[in-house]
Amino acid sequence: MSGPEAPGPFGVARLPRIVFGAGRISELAALAAGYGTRVLLVTGRRSFRDGPAWAPLVAGLEAAGLAWDDLAVPGEPSPDLVDGAVADRRRDPPDVVVGIGGGAALDTAKAVAGLLRSGTSVLDHLEGVGRGLPYPGPATPFIAVPTTAGTGSEATRNAVISGRLPGAGRDDPPFKKSFRDDRLVASVALLDPDLLAGCPPAVIAGDGMDALTQLLESFTSTGASPFTDAVARSGLAAIGRALPAWHAAALGGAEASETAVARSSMAWAALCSGIALASAGLGAVHGLVAPLGARFGIHHGMGCGALVAAVTRMNIAVLAERAPGSRPLERYAEAGRLLAGDPASTGSALTDEAARAALLAALDRLTAVLRVPRLAAYGVTAGAFPALVAESRGSSMRTNPVVLTDGEIGAILAASL
Ligand SMILES: [Zn+2]
Repeated sequence: MSGPEAPGPFGVARLPRIVFGAGRISELAALAAGYGTRVLLVTGRRSFRDGPAWAPLVAGLEAAGLAWDDLAVPGEPSPDLVDGAVADRRRDPPDVVVGIGGGAALDTAKAVAGLLRSGTSVLDHLEGVGRGLPYPGPATPFIAVPTTAGTGSEATRNAVISGRLPGAGRDDPPFKKSFRDDRLVASVALLDPDLLAGCPPAVIAGDGMDALTQLLESFTSTGASPFTDAVARSGLAAIGRALPAWHAAALGGAEASETAVARSSMAWAALCSGIALASAGLGAVHGLVAPLGARFGIHHGMGCGALVAAVTRMNIAVLAERAPGSRPLERYAEAGRLLAGDPASTGSALTDEAARAALLAALDRLTAVLRVPRLAAYGVTAGAFPALVAESRGSSMRTNPVVLTDGEIGAILAASL
């Protein structure tokens, strides 16, 4: 390890006000009332409304004198879903949008809040597809309440939209692109780890691998800063033990006091992943998972889980050859120590090389323990590699710690099949 680094010039992306802690969902009505009297609740498919938190939430809104309307999101946000929800509410718009759910519900709420006042179509403002018009704003205030731990959407300025362009032919691939603007950042992120109770094991695994990947990619990104490093370190130290512990408890149906600790750690790790990625950017896993999701319908987090070990192995090998002694190589070693729970995480208990090997072993182990499917399980074949490689070079790939060749990206896919 080299000595302490002096902070260079860096910026921190806009952040929401953060309200974190078990039981704090009880503060939602008062937070919403700070923005007006009409609330749009956007919830997910795995219905939050069937759970124990729904009745007290509605009672709280009504006691606070708030009028509410709700939108249940059946899946990942499409242009039709977002534009339709906006069109239905343009005449009598809410004062505040509350998104409660996983990444799909939060991204839908974020996009709808963004467009209620502008009245423009989400297709006007997507990156890389559609009309490419600047987003005029303003956004309606948005409160993000995650009920899963992983996407970090509560802390980021983009909503991921999936679909096809109007008039697209059968051979035109579907897209998965971001609607991104600083004004889309939630006004408040309310993280109540109690809301994570009852998460199914597959959701814990998929979203957990997303958070882990986001932490690792922001920590090694070319856009990393002392701020994002500090946040990513805290998240990586939390997730190594908490993710497998929570998953095992959910598989076994056990609810112990340690499970509440693991949930809380995962809510924190996921928040850290969102904060870090918002300022640092991501890497090759996220570059590849977007076209894999668009073309094969692969769940974002499970796709991250299928790729993260192979991408990390390739990045380390290529850096060792082209940039030995570079900062990202040190960060991979540090991530290995943090994930392994090495008490001397910045000391010399493990050599850098051994710590990088420990990182790869930890990623392989987590992928197996969390039952992350390989890419072939979704019908991906080598025939799709050229298109996937070509479509992987979006914004995330640009902050990968090393520029990978087409051949290297193809080898990552082959290793993940
Ligand atoms: Zn992600």
